[in-house]
Amino acid sequence: MNIVSGGIIFDIKRFSVHDGPGIRTTIFFKGCPLSCWWCHNPESQSMNPELMLWPDRCIGCETCIKVCPNKAVSLIDNMIVTNRKKCVACGVCADNCPASAREIVGRRVSVEELLRDIEKDVTFYDESGGGVTISGGEPFLQWEFLENLLKECREREIHTAVDTTGYVDSDVILRVSDVIELFLYDLKLMDDSKHKYYTGVSNGLILKNLKLLDSAGKRIFARFPLIPGINDDEDNIRKTAEFVSGLSSVEEIDVLPYHKGGEQKAKRIGKRYLYNGEQPTDEVVERVVNLLQGYGLKVKIGG
Ligand code: SF4
Ligand code: SF4
Repeated sequence: MNIVSGGIIFDIKRFSVHDGPGIRTTIFFKGCPLSCWWCHNPESQSMNPELMLWPDRCIGCETCIKVCPNKAVSLIDNMIVTNRKKCVACGVCADNCPASAREIVGRRVSVEELLRDIEKDVTFYDESGGGVTISGGEPFLQWEFLENLLKECREREIHTAVDTTGYVDSDVILRVSDVIELFLYDLKLMDDSKHKYYTGVSNGLILKNLKLLDSAGKRIFARFPLIPGINDDEDNIRKTAEFVSGLSSVEEIDVLPYHKGGEQKAKRIGKRYLYNGEQPTDEVVERVVNLLQGYGLKVKIGG
């Protein structure tokens, strides 16, 4: 039994009710092949640990300047400034900051370590029909680790779900699907050139893999992140609905209205955030839901 090999994650959320049925433990894997303009977890995109800053918490003690082995922190115009080109995310400043104004996101974990966390809530999974959900990032970027972890969950009869972009090697997604009971499968844009522009990759492989999983009879919930001005136009909604209604294993489509949480996080890790729209109004959400329902689809708002 190979359960010791490790992976990199950036968060674990217990008692989640938005990532599949029942009460769940959601584990967020780090690394993603997409770079969506509206990403709500920008700290998930890189495979490496990153330094996150909370300047509003800083008490100006200058400890970070003293302890940084790479001289990446300095005082400029009375402000604590971090030179990210010099920072290697070693975490020394975060360990020593008395105000929790610095944090490293991303840590290596073993399957065993994660299983200990997952098993704490087995009673809740059993009572609510829940289980474990792996999200990200794109979990399949660490597919061997993913497979090892979910195999162990299945041996313990813990329900398994994976939230995926679908931008994954087809052989890999089919292979690992043996230990996945539910796919939460993102569908962002049907027009390929727009998909490339707003996410950085083509949707060809994503649509192909969804068809493959459907033909294999896998249980699937499609997920539609609703981003005003990018994918909320009637043409895109109709094409999404047509595609999904042509599949037999997609049980529902979850509409996930954009929220601004990712913008602040991007700033905190020193990344540019490209989407500058607002969260959709109730009217926009209602219009999209009605359009999808018009195709006979079961639609839910949220996960
Ligand atoms: S160690 Fe923390 S509180 Fe002190 S100056 Fe640095 S960021 Fe601010
Ligand atoms: S994470 Fe390490 S390299 Fe980066 S600023 Fe902190 S101490 Fe310096």
